[in-house]
Amino acid sequence: MVADHIPQEVIEEVRRRSDIVEVISEYLPLKGSGGNYKALCPFHSEKTPSFTVTRQKQIFHCFGCGVGGNVFHFIMKYEHLSFPEAVASLAHRFGVSLPKGRLRAAMSEAETHKDQLYRLNEMAAEYYHKTLLSTAQGEKARAYLKQRGVNARSVELFKLGYAPASWDGLVRYGAERGFSPQALVEVGLVKAREQGPGFYDRFRDRLMFPIANAMGRVVALGGRLLENLPDAPKYLNSPETTIYKKGQLLYGLHLTKHAIRRAGQVLIVEGYLDLISVFQAGIENVVATLGTALTRSHVQVLKAYANEAVLVFDGDNAGRSAALRGKEYFLQEHRRYFLPGAHLSSLKGALEGDLHAKVVLLPAGHDPDTLVQREGRDGLLKRVRQAQPFMEFVFDAEAEGHDLGSVQGKLAYVRKLLPLVTTMTNQVERTEYLSELVKRTGIAPAALADELHRLKQGAKPAANDGVAYYFPGLGPERLLVQLLLTHRSWIPYARLQVPADFLQEPLLRAILQALYRLASERGDFDIATLLEALADERCRDLVARLVLESVGDEAVQQQIDDCLVALQRRQIEAQLKRLKEDMHEAEGRGDMVQLAHLQQQFAQLRRTLTRRGRAAP
Ligand SMILES: [Zn+2]
Repeated sequence: MVADHIPQEVIEEVRRRSDIVEVISEYLPLKGSGGNYKALCPFHSEKTPSFTVTRQKQIFHCFGCGVGGNVFHFIMKYEHLSFPEAVASLAHRFGVSLPKGRLRAAMSEAETHKDQLYRLNEMAAEYYHKTLLSTAQGEKARAYLKQRGVNARSVELFKLGYAPASWDGLVRYGAERGFSPQALVEVGLVKAREQGPGFYDRFRDRLMFPIANAMGRVVALGGRLLENLPDAPKYLNSPETTIYKKGQLLYGLHLTKHAIRRAGQVLIVEGYLDLISVFQAGIENVVATLGTALTRSHVQVLKAYANEAVLVFDGDNAGRSAALRGKEYFLQEHRRYFLPGAHLSSLKGALEGDLHAKVVLLPAGHDPDTLVQREGRDGLLKRVRQAQPFMEFVFDAEAEGHDLGSVQGKLAYVRKLLPLVTTMTNQVERTEYLSELVKRTGIAPAALADELHRLKQGAKPAANDGVAYYFPGLGPERLLVQLLLTHRSWIPYARLQVPADFLQEPLLRAILQALYRLASERGDFDIATLLEALADERCRDLVARLVLESVGDEAVQQQIDDCLVALQRRQIEAQLKRLKEDMHEAEGRGDMVQLAHLQQQFAQLRRTLTRRGRAAP
């Protein structure tokens, strides 16, 4: 297992300093007392909290979807990191120094490759940043930023840069630092010449924006022309790589995620400069989609940080159509959560914990950047407070495209919106929107209901909200493992009587094996340590669940004995069955010597069984 490569004492030191309650409460609002805390699960959609964290056991578990583990496993799952990366991240946070070479050795080949891609992008970002700040060529870009009102602190925070007009600045800078042009080609920062050998910089004479992931590692770069050129695109981005997926990345999130979590709300803008401008104005709970429509992945990411998303769009048609492009994703992922404002408060309890979407449409000719320049922080915040619920916005936006004065117009409008209404699983909301449509069009409710019914025939059935996960039934296997997890001093006693392979359920068997191994290697150990020894995620999930379900402290030995006896009995009965088959076969062959031998074994085994039967109460 990977963990073997980082010294065990270092892992334990990091874990000892990273209190699970403290760490997780940076990600989720934990509520509770007495060492047990609850929150809405970040890994599945739910309305009542079943995600549980215990301080004493230093584990988490969700009774809804079954995930569980220790503090490292939470970070791995939440931040999509490998085990060594999760250890490194917490070590950094709590000031534990890691042996560098050992960490790299612990990374898989794929992780090492990813790390190389990050370092290439970071090297390039540094080159552009230096060029912007301290070269004569950078003056042009410095003047541009000044004119756009971007201050020095923002330039520093967002590591803005300038790609000079020369053809090989980055190629040479990289070569001096041991990065080959071929490697830079892989991240799309450099291109191979079409004619003849050699390479050239892809970004030239552009203002550069490093694009970082939520952890702050640079995954790509974006470049903006300083003045419009007829033949060149205004914006140019790195191509997608294994570390950069456009539809998943939200610009600025690494700097704004804590503010978003504190506010429980995220503003979504479109461009780099929109984001920087809004952030600089003091509104820090903001991300940018960088011109792509809001995707399902974006929504998933944001849901972990906020329960309300406010889409802020330019007051022109392009802005509006961008807003509508995101619509279907919101409806697929969160179709149950769009209600006209008046109903929001009455259903607030039911809605809590999910991402509601609202829309701010800026006045014509404005984008978030120009608006905060003119009206400041308060001007934008005022509009955010007055944001329109997303579905209402959609109803309004569609109304503009249809002539609701004519029967044909009304019908077209209804046909456009009804499919959206049918995707809602919530009966109450469907009814609300239907009556909203009735109000807006004057079409009879019965006619709408017919149309809706017709649409529903063709619609796919809605996915089930409840997530079922595997949990073994109650029996001696589960009970034994559960008892030994809590009462670990009994492990050696159990080990002498029941080998792990007596267990048939594979996950429970793997857990029992790990318990036996740890007990013989280390004597005493805690659950967090056991969790690291289990490579199979399903085993970890199961352990977390088992230790959180209380088993009585009474008559522990009696309960353990009962389980051991039951498991031994089952084993002996299986052996007896096999012997019987062998005897039958020996008899058929006429092998009387073998038969007598088997009969003797059978009788002996049967006696142990009846002895055990009497011993058990
Ligand atoms: Zn869950």
